[in-house]
Amino acid sequence: MTDCIFCRIASREIPANLILETDTLVAFHDLNPQAPQHVLLIPKKHIATLDTAGDEDRAILGELLLNAAEIARRLGFAEAGYRTVINCNQDGGQSVYHLHVHLLGGRALRWPPG
Ligand code: AMP
Repeated sequence: MTDCIFCRIASREIPANLILETDTLVAFHDLNPQAPQHVLLIPKKHIATLDTAGDEDRAILGELLLNAAEIARRLGFAEAGYRTVINCNQDGGQSVYHLHVHLLGGRALRWPPG
């Protein structure tokens, strides 16, 4: 999808501060971090929301979470703790309609979220 900003990051058409690239996903630093560590993990395949993911996306959904854990370890905040978040649709606060996992760490996070 050429009008999708995360597809354009995945295809390297527009730059991002990349952390990881595999055959199926890309991870990069969020442009507007909400914590000292704020990483986004996206599938290369365009999936608009978690609600539109299907059976065929089981593997990539697992990959996104396992790679989030790996990045937290690699960046050194896994032991202190972190949060993974997938915002879905309007009430979930989703603003970019390409499925992504937020990985947030580096400070104590409050609960419940706003
Ligand atoms: P959400 O509100 O869950 O859809 O999250 C979208 C996230 O994408 C926000 O945290 C934005 O700061 C982030 N974002 C939007 N555009 C870019 C970009 N070009 N590079 C990095 N992060 C971005």
